[in-house]
Amino acid sequence: ALLESAREGLVITRFGQHADVEDPETGIIHRCNLRRSIQSLVSGDRVVWRPGVEALQGINGVVEAVHERESMLTRPDYYDGVKAVAANVNQIIIVSSVLPELSLNIIDRYLIAAETVGVPPLIVLNKVDLLEPDERTHVEETLALYQEIGYQVRLVSSETGEGLDGLRDDLKGHISIFAGQSGVGKSSLVNALMPEVEAEIGDVSENSGLGQHTTTAARLYHFPDGGDLIDSPGVREFGLWHLETDQVTEAFVEFRDYLGGCKFRDCKHGNDPGCIIREAVEEGKIHQARYDSYHKIIDSMSENVANRQFSR
Ligand code: GDP
Repeated sequence: ALLESAREGLVITRFGQHADVEDPETGIIHRCNLRRSIQSLVSGDRVVWRPGVEALQGINGVVEAVHERESMLTRPDYYDGVKAVAANVNQIIIVSSVLPELSLNIIDRYLIAAETVGVPPLIVLNKVDLLEPDERTHVEETLALYQEIGYQVRLVSSETGEGLDGLRDDLKGHISIFAGQSGVGKSSLVNALMPEVEAEIGDVSENSGLGQHTTTAARLYHFPDGGDLIDSPGVREFGLWHLETDQVTEAFVEFRDYLGGCKFRDCKHGNDPGCIIREAVEEGKIHQARYDSYHKIIDSMSENVANRQFSR
């Protein structure tokens, strides 16, 4: 049978040798085969696909080519080393919470991950309904340090809905992921922002007979007021896993202006007199909390390396 002409499409999800591709003009999702030439295809990919004339075994299209990606998120994979999880994400929403405690070090770890993949982060502090007014003032003052170095911060509560209108605005025009530790309220936030998806998320293990959707497969969702979400347990765990010390240093955005001026090659930016980073901290140009966090992260990385070598 003759095939229709090629069209643009957006990959909603990929499973095995198939992908669900949305036609942006109609919003209709077509289950497609993949051309053999396609090496890698994930949620968020923009593709050229060709609809089939009629559905054969539920398949009614072929993905022919993948457009160049704006960004690529990966995770470690036992067999392949690295596995693609989501394409074209252009906003990483770092979710943290006041309960059990506000951890700047964990925020910093996610910021490093976002800076390293080159995707702008947004810091969201959830569960602010639990704060007394004086605690809230303290939290706002603490997080101001991130605003000073150019990051946007939002205080929200998925419980009361506070701050969610602002967050809805931030989502518009972006493909976002929600990243953060377990228990900070990522699911609660997604459910508050996208109520109708809750049922769908619970449904992803449905067996279509064409290949099993697993709960680890990432999927793209549209927010009702604009913007897209790519979500899966694997996507939420996005973080630090393969970085070099230099990448961590580069990812501290407020260090960048000083790094070129550091006198020492391979400077650890520790207590050595003459280290320009150290001086900037003393002069209050770099925040002490970020500097401490930096060292904590670098130290934990070298411990990991030591442990790995030991276990070999
Ligand atoms: P996730 O692991 O990051 O997806 O976190 P969940 O969405 O499962 O939330 C963890 C716990 O925090 C649950 O018991 C939620 O009810 C609670 N929680 C989530 N958001 C809020 C909030 O804004 N305020 C309060 N007080 N609790 C919240």
